[in-house]
Amino acid sequence: MRIVQKFGGTSVGSLERIQKTADIVQAELARGVQIAVVVSAMSGETNRLVAMANEMSEQPAARELDALVATGEQVTAALLAIELQKRGVVAYSYSGGQAGFVTSADHARARIKSVESSHLLRHMQAGEVPVVTGFQGVDEKGSVTTLGRGGSDTSAVALAVAVEADACDIYTDVDGIYTTDPRMVPKAQKMERISYEEMLEFASLGAKVLQTRSVELAMRFQMPIHLRSSFDPVVGTMVVGEDETMERAAISGVAYNRDEAKITIMGIPDQPGIAANVFGPIAEAGVNVDVIVQNVSEQGYTDITFTVPRSDYEQTMGIMRMLCEQMQGRDVKGDDTVAKVSVIGVGMRSHAGVAKMMFDTLAKEGVNIQMITTSEIKITVVIEEKYIELAVRSLHSAFGLDLSPPA
Ligand code: ADP
Ligand code: ASP
Ligand code: MG
Repeated sequence: MRIVQKFGGTSVGSLERIQKTADIVQAELARGVQIAVVVSAMSGETNRLVAMANEMSEQPAARELDALVATGEQVTAALLAIELQKRGVVAYSYSGGQAGFVTSADHARARIKSVESSHLLRHMQAGEVPVVTGFQGVDEKGSVTTLGRGGSDTSAVALAVAVEADACDIYTDVDGIYTTDPRMVPKAQKMERISYEEMLEFASLGAKVLQTRSVELAMRFQMPIHLRSSFDPVVGTMVVGEDETMERAAISGVAYNRDEAKITIMGIPDQPGIAANVFGPIAEAGVNVDVIVQNVSEQGYTDITFTVPRSDYEQTMGIMRMLCEQMQGRDVKGDDTVAKVSVIGVGMRSHAGVAKMMFDTLAKEGVNIQMITTSEIKITVVIEEKYIELAVRSLHSAFGLDLSPPA
């Protein structure tokens, strides 16, 4: 058996926690499992490093910012290797580059191109433990790159694929994947298993428990993920291929994302190419547009409303004001206090009435829906941020997901 174990920020958040992590590694080794470890920085450390760079300069160069934030993981990798060595385990820490992660040169959102880690596999086969810094690699010029926030999950799955591991165990501060964020809804229920497809929706719609790209990778290579707690040795949640034989409830969970902003460009000419004109420059700026609504045209003019990550709000507003002037549009309006809530479930394919139930529930709570978007297995609405907890709780309850009190 061969496993890649990933430990998140809280699991390596202090020397004491690193010792507990070493206990987990040792216990698996004792069972004869071949292990490689991927670590995050101590919790809060990446934010602290980013804040320092921003204090130093208004616009720190992306290359240097990556060089800086990548250090967080080097600290924890080396400390865990030191702790394991103290216990007589042969362990070596490796930076992402040393571990063979080659990425694109897009700093802060680099994509993994290849993982040449046969040297790590040799350690594993010899019962030794490579401890790899998550979240990073090097580009073809040798500059340090990072994979985007939460990227250690993706490093771990990529390494698991590269060394042909049987599974990737992701250790965090909750003991599984729940029907919604258990920190917001104490009545959330833990899932025994979840399909890649549903987990992909959960992650991309805001459940930050796994980075979206890690789920994409796992799905592509059919790598099982076991999401579990480093605080509590219970079985967690398996993220695996869809089990066709299972009967499904309409909805398997509720996800939310506060990191949203909404922009409307009004009174622009309704003609072919207009959407391309609006979204081309935004894409060039590297901003990901999410929900899009275009109004029916009125006397040859139309409005387009869309959402972007809140951190890209100011920049996108600037681009829109410029475009509005160029296209002689009427106005640009923005709101960076919106949020997104989604109900998700592959069972939705065979259940009618999910949309009606969702809209009725929100109406009953007096929550106004600003935008709606659907796919085969999810319905997403954009609402005012201040209603997010109310919306998540009431939907969780309305779709029968609340944990019932023990009889
Ligand atoms: P790590 O630092 O270990 O990577 P994260 O903070 O990235 O941990 O992810 C774990 C957190 O994800 C949990 O503390 C929980 O609040 C949050 N979370 C959001 N949605 C869910 C969900 N559906 N199930 C479990 N946890 C969730
Ligand atoms: N330390 C990085 C972050 O905070 C990567 C990770 O934890 O996955 O985003
Ligand atoms: Mg994480």
